[in-house]
Amino acid sequence: MALRSWVNSANNAQTDFPLENLPYGVFEGEGGPRIVVAIGDRILDLHGCADDGLLADAGEEVEEACRAARLNALMALGADAWHALRGRLTALLHAERASKVERQHAQAKLIPMKNARMLLPVEIGDYTDFYASIHHATRVGKLFRPDSPLLPNYKYLPIGYHGRSSSIVLSGTEIHRPAGQTKSANGEITYGPSQALDFELEVGLFIGPGNAQGTTIGIDAAEEHIFGLCLVNDWSARDLQAWEYQPLGPFLAKSFATSISPWVVPLEALAPYRLSTDQRAAGDPELMTYLRSRTSHPQAFDVTLEARLSSRAMRASGMEPMRICHGNLRHLYWTLAQLVTHHASNGCNLRPGDLLATGTVSGPEDGSEGCLLEKRHRNEPVCLPNGEMRAFLEDGDEVVLTAYAHRDGMPRIGFGACAGRIGGAADAE
Ligand code: CA
Repeated sequence: MALRSWVNSANNAQTDFPLENLPYGVFEGEGGPRIVVAIGDRILDLHGCADDGLLADAGEEVEEACRAARLNALMALGADAWHALRGRLTALLHAERASKVERQHAQAKLIPMKNARMLLPVEIGDYTDFYASIHHATRVGKLFRPDSPLLPNYKYLPIGYHGRSSSIVLSGTEIHRPAGQTKSANGEITYGPSQALDFELEVGLFIGPGNAQGTTIGIDAAEEHIFGLCLVNDWSARDLQAWEYQPLGPFLAKSFATSISPWVVPLEALAPYRLSTDQRAAGDPELMTYLRSRTSHPQAFDVTLEARLSSRAMRASGMEPMRICHGNLRHLYWTLAQLVTHHASNGCNLRPGDLLATGTVSGPEDGSEGCLLEKRHRNEPVCLPNGEMRAFLEDGDEVVLTAYAHRDGMPRIGFGACAGRIGGAADAE
């Protein structure tokens, strides 16, 4: 039974933001950035709510964290504080549980979402990108090694690399086509704009409380270190990548830009959509003890993921974007908890606001490839509805990622959108 809010738009079955979601974001207020939650087609200003005493039940530390300009302080407080705040906000926005006075005060703190300029919600210290989808790793591996697509370490540990946090941008920011060195088919090495620009459909997790350097995070405590999830587009220049990636892995092919969605969906909101992970097959190596969960609750999440593409010509003639990927987070080989535990397993300190991304999320079926590179296993470029063909992204193309969890009789928990449009080559300075 869905919860009813006095914010009418939150009761619409199609909204991404029902009362059960309450994702966190930051918007540009008159006096600077302010923390908000999304509810229907409105955003609720938590700084204002704290000043009005509406969050007092959640405790002084929570009130103070809600007055900050970014989510990091709230992230650092941990799961009990998040639960208290979420409980308080649920009551405040609930159709029957909010008192008349509370409702009047909260009403004054609502802003139409369409009028709000959203900002990066988190001061992201470090960004790590994993490779947790076995379907992605297998398809990409087949392009280079048809006989042994997966490298020998894949089923033993979550593969990752250190990304670049300075170039993480919010959804809606234009992406400049990167330039770099590439090696042509005839062996010539040149420098110039990438001719193989791709997107990667990923989910990111934000670290809440961190760990001290030299300590580790036990697998069954790992989810207590996850504040929430967002959408990530890890833009990739495949031609730069092919030439530079050996021996140390991706570098300039990835570091020029990464887009994230403005909303951070609390892990607690996704609890009803958990399911057992089914990706480890008979014959796979046994999980090492430090990665083996002993909790009884399922470790995967049933979250539908989609990517849509529109070209400049399509938009000019009023065409809808074309859906080019339809996948699900449940298909990851490694769980979110395993990513966190493995990251800290050498004593590396994670900090509140660090972003860990899953890597491209792809499924087993045709159509679930989370990037254009993978579509090449069928040797077919994407054919857009107006007849344009795409092997990789052209200038003016826009990619929009979306995600939602939904089950019969349950609300739709949406992630909002992560959009980016390709501009021309980066300007020389
Ligand atoms: Ca990636």
